Order: sequence, then C-alpha cells, then structure tokens
Amino acid sequence: MSVLAVMEPRDGVCTGMSLETLAAAQQIGAELGLPVYVAVFGNSAAGLTDKRLAGIFTIEHDLLDSYTPDGYTIALKQLTAKLGATLVLFPHTYRVRDFAPKLATAFGKVLISDATGFRLENGEIVLLRQVFQGKLGAELTFTGGPPNFASIQAGAWRADTAISGSAAIETFIPELKSDQIRTKPTVRFREAERAVDLSAAQIIVSVGRGIKEAENIEIVSKLAEALGAEMAASRPICDSGWMPMERQVGSSGQTVAPRIYFAIGISGAIQHLVGMKGAKTVVAINRDPNAPIFEVADYGIVGDLFQVVPALVEALRNSKG
Ligand code: FAD
Repeated sequence: MSVLAVMEPRDGVCTGMSLETLAAAQQIGAELGLPVYVAVFGNSAAGLTDKRLAGIFTIEHDLLDSYTPDGYTIALKQLTAKLGATLVLFPHTYRVRDFAPKLATAFGKVLISDATGFRLENGEIVLLRQVFQGKLGAELTFTGGPPNFASIQAGAWRADTAISGSAAIETFIPELKSDQIRTKPTVRFREAERAVDLSAAQIIVSVGRGIKEAENIEIVSKLAEALGAEMAASRPICDSGWMPMERQVGSSGQTVAPRIYFAIGISGAIQHLVGMKGAKTVVAINRDPNAPIFEVADYGIVGDLFQVVPALVEALRNSKG
C-alpha cells in the first residue's frame, strides 16, 4: 500500500506542476499513513532526492525514450502493480490527459481529473474538483478497491510545500516489446519564441470575452496606455486571434505576477486564475456581481466595461493634468 506520484520532468528538470503533485501526494500519504513513491521516465530524478520519499523509481527502457501512450501505460501498469499502489497521482498536463485515463482503464478504473483538494471521510479519500467553469465544487470518491487514479490541477497545491528529506533512486525496467507500441512519435512540438515576457510586467491590463468584438479591444488598450501597462488576455480572446497567443494568461498561457492586474470582462475561470494568482493587487471589472473573479479581486467594480473603462482612462488623464 502506497501513494505513487508520477512526475513529468522537462529537459531533465522537474516542473512546478510535478512538484505540486508531489506535495499533494505527501499530504495525502501523511493523512492515510502511507509511504510515498515517485516515478519518472528516464533517469531525470534531479531535484527529487532531497524530498521525503520512500523511494524514486526511474523507469528506463529503450522503447520509452520518446513518449507513447502505449509505452507509458504498460510501464506504469507494471510499476503500480509492483508497489501495490493505493493511489496514483499525476500533474494534470496535456500528456497525462492522453495516457492516464488509459492506465486507469487498464485496471478497470476511471481517472478523477483536475483535483484541487482532498479530505478524508471515514478513512476514505474524498477529492475536490471544480465543475461548470469553476461555478460549482464537486466532491468525488473512488468506488472499488485500489489502485485509484487522479490528476492534480496546476496551482492547487504549492510546490514549495513538498517536504524535504532524502530518497534513494531505484531503476525500474518494465517488460516491453516493440510490437506493443502502436504509435510512432515525431519531433516534439515547440512553441514559437515569445516576443513578450509578461512575467516581468509590473502592471497588466487583461481583457476577456466581455469585450465582445475584436474592434473593442482598443477601448481597453487605451487604459493600458494611460497606465503604462502591458496588455494580456484570457484564452478565448487569443483563440479568436484578437490578441497574439503570447499574451494569453493562464494554465495554457503565461504565468504572471505583476504589482497590479486588471481583469476586464474576465469571468475568473480556474484556468485563468492559475496564471495570475501571483499578482499583488487584482482589480476586476465585470457586470456580473457573482463572477468568480471577484473572489480573488482586491478591488471589484461591478459595471459595464464600456462605461467603466473610458471613465477610468479619463480620470487617469485628468490626474496627470
Ligand atoms: P467568459 O467566461 O465568457 O467571461 C466573460 C465575462 O465577461 C463574464 O464574467 C461576463 O459577466 C463579463 N462581461 C460580459 N459583458 C460585460 C460587460 N459589458 N462589462 C463587463 N463585464 C462583462 N483560459 C484562460 O484565460 N487562460 C488559459 O490559459 C486557459 N487554459 C485552458 C486550458 C484548458 C485545458 C481549458 C479546458 C480551458 C482553458 N481556459 C483558459 C479557458 C477557461 O476555462 C475559460 O473558458 C476562459 O478563461 C474564459 O474566458 P473569459 O473569462 O474571457 O470569458
């Protein structure tokens, strides 16, 4: 019986999301009184040996040099069985979304995805996750015996709460044959170089779907200009091509930590919040008083952005004389 956290290092370095998953595994393991193991593909265990763990397994095999859902599933199925893992946790990455449901299904189970918290009820784990764009919280329990599978939402646990200690590394070589792998990986997709580094911006004015039309973005860019701020956006704005992708803030965009973050016509979906929760001060403008963005806002203006933003621009201009 154990908790197994499956890490996803990038270029040999453990990502923040992987360390957040480790922090979740340690907390859940401590509550359940179970040892925590970590698994990494390849030999990239750097940054993990100083964590309190029962052991680190580096999963090594020629057929695992490149990611394939078949290879990862077969290898992890064998390791899960070897450890008698009660709970297997993953960071909720695109890759995990690809193979982890397949792994769960191989055990006749489902994956509880994007978990944001947990509690114990009668010794059983209850996982929390958001539904309907973060408007409602759901509590989910596993049925049937172990192993069970869940992925952890980016930002739900803090990477720096992963407990320090020491851990020994063991190599795990799964039994794998080339005819079990049905896909052929090609070169990894690389994003275009970022022209704008929003992570260094001190003031950010960010616009969401409340802006309605591409032509209206100018209204908000006038505010950015008056404040000397960088412009950013929620995902639907960038998906529509109204702003460049490099200005998207959120779980699949940039992570920012400005002194002031203006969220204008942005509802505050969790995928957006994880990208801007490091902001010192959040100012939200939204006509819906129940928009989730107000839960993280230091200053909230309930109103129509088409009236509020021009009024702010005018007030700023007047204040400068
Ligand atoms: P909406 O949710 O449509 O909100 C628009 C808001 O504008 C509403 O709150 C409304 O009340 C308000 N509004 C409307 N008219 C006015 C007005 N006249 N004046 C004032 N307010 C008004 N999203 C991101 O932002 N970044 C990401 O990186 C990201 N990654 C994702 C990854 C995945 C895997 C998935 C599934 C989703 C991701 N999303 C991301 C999408 C996210 O779930 C939300 O759909 C998105 O953030 C919503 O954008 P929005 O707030 O602009 O739009």
